[in-house]
Amino acid sequence: MNARAKVVVTDFLAEPAECERRILGDIADVVMLDAKGETDLVGRIEDADAIMMYHVIRIGERTIDALRHCKLIVRCGVGFDNVDGAAARRRGIPVANVPDYGTEDVADSAIGMSLALGRGIHFLNSRLRRGEGPWTYRQAQPVARLRGRTFGIIGLGRIGTAAALRAKALGMKVVFYDPYLPDGYDKSLGVTRVETLDELLRDAHVVSPHCPLTPETRHIMNRDTIARMPRGSILVNTSRGAVVDPLAVLDALSSGHLAGAGIDVLEFEPPSPDHPLLLAWRDPGHPAHDRLILNPHSAFYSEEGLVDMRVKGSENCRRALLGTVPRNIVNG
Ligand code: NAD
Repeated sequence: MNARAKVVVTDFLAEPAECERRILGDIADVVMLDAKGETDLVGRIEDADAIMMYHVIRIGERTIDALRHCKLIVRCGVGFDNVDGAAARRRGIPVANVPDYGTEDVADSAIGMSLALGRGIHFLNSRLRRGEGPWTYRQAQPVARLRGRTFGIIGLGRIGTAAALRAKALGMKVVFYDPYLPDGYDKSLGVTRVETLDELLRDAHVVSPHCPLTPETRHIMNRDTIARMPRGSILVNTSRGAVVDPLAVLDALSSGHLAGAGIDVLEFEPPSPDHPLLLAWRDPGHPAHDRLILNPHSAFYSEEGLVDMRVKGSENCRRALLGTVPRNIVNG
């Protein structure tokens, strides 16, 4: 590589590009666009040698076709559904993600919500803060001991495995359903594999999906599957919003079938002001109110994770610019 390269960070971040320049500064100019939509990229990205993109914008075929000599697109995050990987492949441009910047943080969040709900912490705080009910544990009854209860994981990948290890440390019996995982992980982790989702749901005290959003997993937790969880169980979702049907969750909380739900992700974020889940969460008179945790897609967040995302994305661009095969290619 002779001339200096150009690396474009399309969205989410604005100057200063400290992390990126520390890693790429000797070989490339780093340009931060802070775009709010794909059209903001026109005329500013075509000569990029590498691109780092986040979740604010989508990069489609038209943008990709305009790239003249791009060697890599890094989606700085886990999910890569906002970049047209097939269009990039047709142009010979690899797309990579950053799969591990927040593995532990998301697992911590899933377990954190499970504990807050399963131990009655959220319920009591929600009620007592507004002066509702007597100052005693009794209004949270019944709270089950977590040790010995079943923690059900849908998708035993990176985050699912990290959640499994944490649930095991709490003394919970970990069961997972993952039809795409080769045999043996149950043995190396000391957890139980089930062949069907039904088996997982039957005994689960907590169900925690950690699968990607695919046609198969869209609303995998719906009215029917939630009804198959035991009465008084808990659902926490840190995967993708559309993996869970929010209206089914609301009804199951309202009827008391679910003792609690922790929702970190929604299909459309931020939710519209009249989203039924948001209304119930805000309304202390709603029967689901005290049993619902709603987070603004924050399960991944830690200061260290944000830095990891930028550093790992930059390091992968450096590999591509220096002619080394990039890591974590997802459109291969
Ligand atoms: P991963 O690819 O390591 O693991 C996903 C697992 O799901 C794989 O083992 C796969 O075999 C399994 N799977 C696929 N289809 C399945 C199905 N139909 N039924 C059951 N299992 C299935 O992914 P990961 O890095 O562990 O991420 C897991 C999820 O967490 C993804 O949806 C990701 O987008 C999400 N995520 C959320 C946040 C957040 O802030 N809330 C942050 C990072 C990742």
